[in-house]
Amino acid sequence: MIFLEITDTVFQSIDVSSHDEFDHEKVYYYEDPQIGFKSIIAIHSSSAGPAIGGCRFRNYSSFQEGLTDVLRLSRGMTEKNNAAKIPFGGGKAIIFADHPKSQATLCALADFLNLLEGAYYSAEDIGITLEDIQFVGQHSAFVLDNVDPGPYTAKGIFYSIEAALKYYLHKDLQRSSISIQGAGSVGLTLANHLADSGATVYIQDIDFTKLEGIDRQNIIPVQNILSQECDLLAPCAIGGILDRESILELKCSIIAGGANNQLKTMEIDDALLALGIHYVPDILINSGGVIGLTKDILGRNSKQIESDLQLIAERAVNFMKIGQANNISILQAMNASVS
Ligand code: NAD
Repeated sequence: MIFLEITDTVFQSIDVSSHDEFDHEKVYYYEDPQIGFKSIIAIHSSSAGPAIGGCRFRNYSSFQEGLTDVLRLSRGMTEKNNAAKIPFGGGKAIIFADHPKSQATLCALADFLNLLEGAYYSAEDIGITLEDIQFVGQHSAFVLDNVDPGPYTAKGIFYSIEAALKYYLHKDLQRSSISIQGAGSVGLTLANHLADSGATVYIQDIDFTKLEGIDRQNIIPVQNILSQECDLLAPCAIGGILDRESILELKCSIIAGGANNQLKTMEIDDALLALGIHYVPDILINSGGVIGLTKDILGRNSKQIESDLQLIAERAVNFMKIGQANNISILQAMNASVS
């Protein structure tokens, strides 16, 4: 077993503290060679409280790629927790999916969390289910395993979509069409909320089994979601889908979804502005999950949670107004408010 703090070291030929994405408090690496388990936990900030975030089980082509992902995602968690006004810092865990996930993988994650003694609490993320994290919870106290955050994330995005359509297009949901990429925990719940409100919903998933159970007239599976004509695109699958090429395919006026880090590079924000597409950053509207995840620890009842989720949309509209008044993107408006 290898357990190392790699914050200020050269590890696997990478000077971690010189990484472009690095402005973190601590970065840890854990390896169990016997089962081929390799994982990184990055603690971006603990100034508001212990770091919380999800654990991602994903195929990375290199250590460098995994490190970049965990550094980016953990910083995003600080911003998200801040935006959700919860007393927790930001962190993230990734596991290199070099071997199939097993109970041994999850036990190794529990060991890693235990070694950090509560500096980081983990929930699930892509590749790790709520059941997985509940299993980890049998071996570690440092998990958030009593709530599926997806439906809370979806609700915050739902309110934000409703607000964005009203603000930019003066349309209510009944007269709107929304394309959703990803029919997972967030995407499918979002699709149902939108369909319940009378919207026309297009949906796509690379895993066709996710679409099999859909039996509603106004939820329509499509092949190519990015080029689907609609009012609003909600990316709810993976990050990095908006790049120089893909944005030229888009036939929507607004982008507002749950997937983390939708922009391949930051300059895509300018490119979308130039195309006249309003991009509502994920970080602004996908914090519903952390509100749900921490509701029991913070003793918040369902009425308070509902009002917190609606506040996400109100904050988003404030940045839409600042952006439009100054002819800048929402992201630029957000950046200006913290600089
Ligand atoms: P999930 O794993 O339940 O669902 C993701 C879905 O996307 C899966 O059905 C998968 O098959 C599909 N998918 C993957 N690649 C795709 C592609 N290229 N095209 C179309 N579909 C694709 O994940 P989730 O919990 O619904 O989260 C979705 C996104 O939202 C992720 O980026 C996640 O990091 C982000 N997010 C989730 C939460 C949450 O509370 N679950 C909170 C904040 C952000």
